[in-house]
Amino acid sequence: MIPDYSELLHPFGHDRTRLLDMLWRIQESRGGIPGEAVAVLSRRLGLTAGEIREVIGFYHFLHDEPLVRHRIHLADTVIARMGGFEAVRDALERAAGCRLGETSPDALFGLHRVPCIGQSDREPAMLVDGLVCGDLTPERAMGILQRLRRGETAAAVTGVAGRSEQDREFVETLSPGTVQRAGPLFFRDGRDHARLLRSCLELTPEQIIDTIDRAGLRGRGGAGFPTARKWRLTREQPAPGKTLICNADEGEPGTFKDRVLLTRSPCDVFTGMIAAARAIGAEQGILYLRAEYRYLLPWLQGQLQRLRDQGLLGRGILGQAGFHFDIRIQSGAGAYVCGDETALIESCEGRRGTPRLKPPFPIQHGFLGRPTCVNNVETFAAVSAILELGAERFRALGTEESAGTRLLSVSGDCDRPGIHEIEWGVTLEQVLEQVGARDPVAVQVSGPAGECVDPAREGGRRFCYSDLSCNGSLMLFGRDRDLLRIVHHFTAFFVDESCGICVPCRSGNPNLLQRLERVIAGRACRQDLADLAAWGRLVGQTSRCGLGGSSARPILTTLERFPSLYRRGLAPAEGTLRPWFDPDAALDDYRRLAAGERE
Ligand code: SF4
Repeated sequence: MIPDYSELLHPFGHDRTRLLDMLWRIQESRGGIPGEAVAVLSRRLGLTAGEIREVIGFYHFLHDEPLVRHRIHLADTVIARMGGFEAVRDALERAAGCRLGETSPDALFGLHRVPCIGQSDREPAMLVDGLVCGDLTPERAMGILQRLRRGETAAAVTGVAGRSEQDREFVETLSPGTVQRAGPLFFRDGRDHARLLRSCLELTPEQIIDTIDRAGLRGRGGAGFPTARKWRLTREQPAPGKTLICNADEGEPGTFKDRVLLTRSPCDVFTGMIAAARAIGAEQGILYLRAEYRYLLPWLQGQLQRLRDQGLLGRGILGQAGFHFDIRIQSGAGAYVCGDETALIESCEGRRGTPRLKPPFPIQHGFLGRPTCVNNVETFAAVSAILELGAERFRALGTEESAGTRLLSVSGDCDRPGIHEIEWGVTLEQVLEQVGARDPVAVQVSGPAGECVDPAREGGRRFCYSDLSCNGSLMLFGRDRDLLRIVHHFTAFFVDESCGICVPCRSGNPNLLQRLERVIAGRACRQDLADLAAWGRLVGQTSRCGLGGSSARPILTTLERFPSLYRRGLAPAEGTLRPWFDPDAALDDYRRLAAGERE
């Protein structure tokens, strides 16, 4: 008999844009999304079952059958691998009685590998029914599954049983987020958001934009587009229904600063959004929260309610007739590509996160075709800092073209992993000293999509938009790390995360990966190295979105900085035959598959 889903789905009505919320609801109550639920959704939303299944299949965190009692999502990042990922994985598999990617025979556990859960300051880490367990050892991982097997809840094994999900202690217990060094702008307790907004609302929208312009704020999402210019362009759009989106989908492996901001200073972010809404004329705001941070959802919803209770959200904000604005939180479902603003908008509409062709740009034709301004978490928090300190004090920090400070998520081989607030303009050398780098041979700036730099030769480079334009992640690799394996991990990540809509990314990245594997196996020829460089550039130049635009960067930047690593991968017989063709190795893949081994 088909259960009655109407109560579960009631809050979302028949709104197709809320499909992800509906799927989450069903999954969390049923342990997965059964076929009968797909049929119900299909009738309710007027979609085919195929259309619903293609959405489920797109996202890491949505699962159809079999239904299971506990979902374990283990992060497989480079940083986790440096900290004992394999041993933890093996322990989990033993305890669950199934391999990663499988369901245990008793349907108690579903074990899933995910590329990153935003916890690189305490990896290996996993999510147990959405709740974070960090600093894992094999013993701890096994112990957690044994307790779950005995009937304890995810809240109990993660230490939050009995606490309110809306309390800060709840989210901080799950993931404390060490702020190693706070600066003048962020994590300032006691900010009076009502006072800030009151003085902000004394300004006209144009004056608010001018303030942000004078401060010189540029988007902290990576591209560094001037925030005031984006706001002005959105404001000038004639179409109604302007929408403001906060991109809290920091999916770049190694990045976790937005998580810490949302944990410690969510009202800084929301206040920035309210000021932006006033400036651009938006009535609707969406915070797109990555699936990996779903444990923050009740906490953030509680904070939004607090703002509503103070009259800072809703209709007639702070008594201003005509200023109506509210924020809803859209939960993502696990897809790196949704960090792209057009993919994120697709996801907000309840679809697969496939990037759109540009133009039109979101400011012209965004969420549901409306003018839409997308900024990221740190940008909105910086707006709050500007409202408090004033544009001139903000501008005085940093450099001429890179004003203010920047949050870095620091992980890897260093003594002080965690969040560091740095002033733009400081050198790489200064930052490495600050974080206690341990004899680094390479530093990955801005995650896999960024740049791998050689600190021995590039220590004098400066963090700023015209040089090391860091998106907020810094991963450090010591001398004993195998850099090519790290590059392989990054490239494989892009292969997995490609949405597949355009050919250069869909076909080019697997090809790059294959050639890289020849280098690692010591079976490459010189043409392979030349192809890695040429094809890498081609993939970057011809792909539709930022994922394909940057997916070859781990290869290109290491090929440039560390060419000897690649030359070491040339086969001894290079030049006399095609050494990369090894029929026995090629057959090995099939033998392994036939034997049912892990790939
Ligand atoms: Fe999709 Fe890759 Fe093309 Fe981006 S570059 S649209 S991720 S296939």
